[in-house]
Amino acid sequence: ESDVSYLKSVIHDVPDYPIPGIIFRDITGILDDAKAFQLCIDTMKTRYQEQGITKVVGTEARGFLFGAPLALAMGVGFVPVRKPGKLPRETHSQTYELEYGQDTLEIHQDALTEDDVVLMVDDLLATGGTIEATTHLIRAVGAKVNHAVFVIGLPGLKGHERLHNLNVDVFSMVEYE
Ligand code: IMP
Repeated sequence: ESDVSYLKSVIHDVPDYPIPGIIFRDITGILDDAKAFQLCIDTMKTRYQEQGITKVVGTEARGFLFGAPLALAMGVGFVPVRKPGKLPRETHSQTYELEYGQDTLEIHQDALTEDDVVLMVDDLLATGGTIEATTHLIRAVGAKVNHAVFVIGLPGLKGHERLHNLNVDVFSMVEYE
């Protein structure tokens, strides 16, 4: 509980960003506080280190900020999932629906193998669309993925349920209703 209140004390709550009525949870306050950043990485590492994880996958862009240090802490490789056109070699793509319109994510085809057991990481779980698309990409290249970890979860937006339906177990360090 004190870990949770410490993290909440450094996360900046920005009202009406990017549009009126939304409270944006700004995690840059975690990144610039070494104690908070370390707490996130240590907690995630401890939770997953006995799960046979062989790769950490982080989704552009804030998933990179937590995914890369987590991968190093766990002693496994890091694989980026990126917006279209950013990865230079052969990719798999996955298009997914947003509230207005759609978006696409890509992964290098040879980044994972059938022997990989993947942990997905992102800063925040809202509707789950981003991590659902990431799950499909990882499974399309044949790897196994059943876990996703977030700094922040917004349970009201039902991302947990959406990911559970895909057999993906979710853990968030802090939650906001
Ligand atoms: P979802 O796909 O609806 O779960 O939205 C999650 C994605 O949107 C993540 O990649 C987040 O980085 C981003 N996102 C949505 N809301 C926030 C916020 O309040 N703070 C930081 N990132 C957010």
